[in-house]
Amino acid sequence: MLKIIDCRQGKCIWCLETTEVVQAEFQDGLSGLLCKKHFWQALKVRCDAKPKHVAEEVRRVPALNAHITRDAENWRLFVPSEEYEATVRRGVSRDGDAAVLSLTPEVTQDLLAAVRGEVSSLDTNVPLVLVVEDASLRPFIRSLLVLEFPHLQIVARREVQGLAALPVPTATITI
Ligand SMILES: [Zn+2]
Repeated sequence: MLKIIDCRQGKCIWCLETTEVVQAEFQDGLSGLLCKKHFWQALKVRCDAKPKHVAEEVRRVPALNAHITRDAENWRLFVPSEEYEATVRRGVSRDGDAAVLSLTPEVTQDLLAAVRGEVSSLDTNVPLVLVVEDASLRPFIRSLLVLEFPHLQIVARREVQGLAALPVPTATITI
């Protein structure tokens, strides 16, 4: 789940506070400096994550499965702008099979603020789904957003393309 690379003074990518930070690399791809509080939060959301998220369900069943299609009608859909995805893409570095997302604290905050602006006032009982165009970025966007938005499902466009009842996006997430 996790690799701790270093523990030192630095700037937390979440709260931008300069304090004692842990340089962590989570198995789902996020890498960065986190203060104690945000390190534990990041760890906690990953431990608490319910295995049966909408996204995981979609991945396991054929796209036209009636149950999923019915559910999709109720989704509140969001799409990231091209620039949003491009910014995440620039933060991904690959080394053989391994890939990590590491962003500066400022970029991290911009990416979070963009989502916050659209989803934070919404009812979390309604499935909130972010549809990412570039499927290879999906795990990184999820690892970035899960701490603050554990209810937001992240799916790749190709995973939901066949769904007949897919609603039109509520908003585009722009930075
Ligand atoms: Zn912090």
